[in-house]
Amino acid sequence: KILITGATGMLGVKVVQALLERVPTEQLAVSVRDLAKAERFKEQRIEIRQADYEDPASLEAAFTGIDRLLLISSQGDDETRIRQHSNVIYAAERTGVGLLVYTSVSKAETSSLPVAEVHRQTEAAIIKSGIPYTFLRNNWYVENEIPVIKNVLAGGPVLTAAESGRVGWVPRVDYAEAAAAVLASGKHTNKIYELSGIPSSYADMARELTSILGRRVIVRNVDDKTYQEVLIANGTPDVMAEFSLDIQRAIRKGDLDVESADLPYLMGRPAISLKQSLTEIVYYLN
Ligand code: NDP
Repeated sequence: KILITGATGMLGVKVVQALLERVPTEQLAVSVRDLAKAERFKEQRIEIRQADYEDPASLEAAFTGIDRLLLISSQGDDETRIRQHSNVIYAAERTGVGLLVYTSVSKAETSSLPVAEVHRQTEAAIIKSGIPYTFLRNNWYVENEIPVIKNVLAGGPVLTAAESGRVGWVPRVDYAEAAAAVLASGKHTNKIYELSGIPSSYADMARELTSILGRRVIVRNVDDKTYQEVLIANGTPDVMAEFSLDIQRAIRKGDLDVESADLPYLMGRPAISLKQSLTEIVYYLN
């Protein structure tokens, strides 16, 4: 049996959807922290288990009888996330899960992204546990750039502090498809995959938007201080502006510049291109 944690989230829902196309419904179960959010799974006749990453007993109960488990990384500060992931790993160990699939981050060992430490420690803890694993090192969701695209639609430039740094953006649906393929096959034991689209810069994004919108979109590369100031002036809370700047710095260093065929290999089709993703986002925002 396959169980997906974080199933109510934006990635989790898509993983479940992709799995329904690959395995019989009876082979699936979801673990949700809030049963009220699980209506759609009830309608799909998927087995629903309740578990909170903060509650070890609930995790153990939810993982009982599970062969393959997807841990979708949680949210919050580093300490919270590391504690929650440890709880999941421990429960998976106690219940004899046969494969633990984990959504990690690009270049986890060396990344300077503000979220990387959690993934580094989680990968290490999973390896230490001895549970067979697959690490899906997800690059950046293209959906993370919706605020940038909104700004362009309002007549602004593509704002960045990342210079020519490149990112392997793809939409969540591709990461979900790859996760479903791994879970359905159960074959990719003790493998680490770098899931990435073809790396592109913010200048590439501006070029694609120019062609999609039929008007010239420019990229405005600014220094760190200006980047943060512009975000704050646009209403971004200070902490978020700092977080966004740290991401830009990491992109500048190349932490999301990943050239890998792992994603198309797992999906059995090419990744969705930046142009196609942007076209869909623009359509959705208009
Ligand atoms: P969402 O916020 O949509 O989903 C997060 C999921 O985790 C939800 O189902 C949420 O449950 C669940 N969750 C959070 N805390 C707990 C808990 N204590 N116990 C049980 N479940 C919990 O995020 P996405 O689906 O978009 O992304 C998945 C993960 O990927 C994120 O959590 C984050 O770690 C990472 N991420 C990656 C990005 C990238 O670009 N690669 C960008 C942003 C995030 P509930 O529905 O009840 O809240």
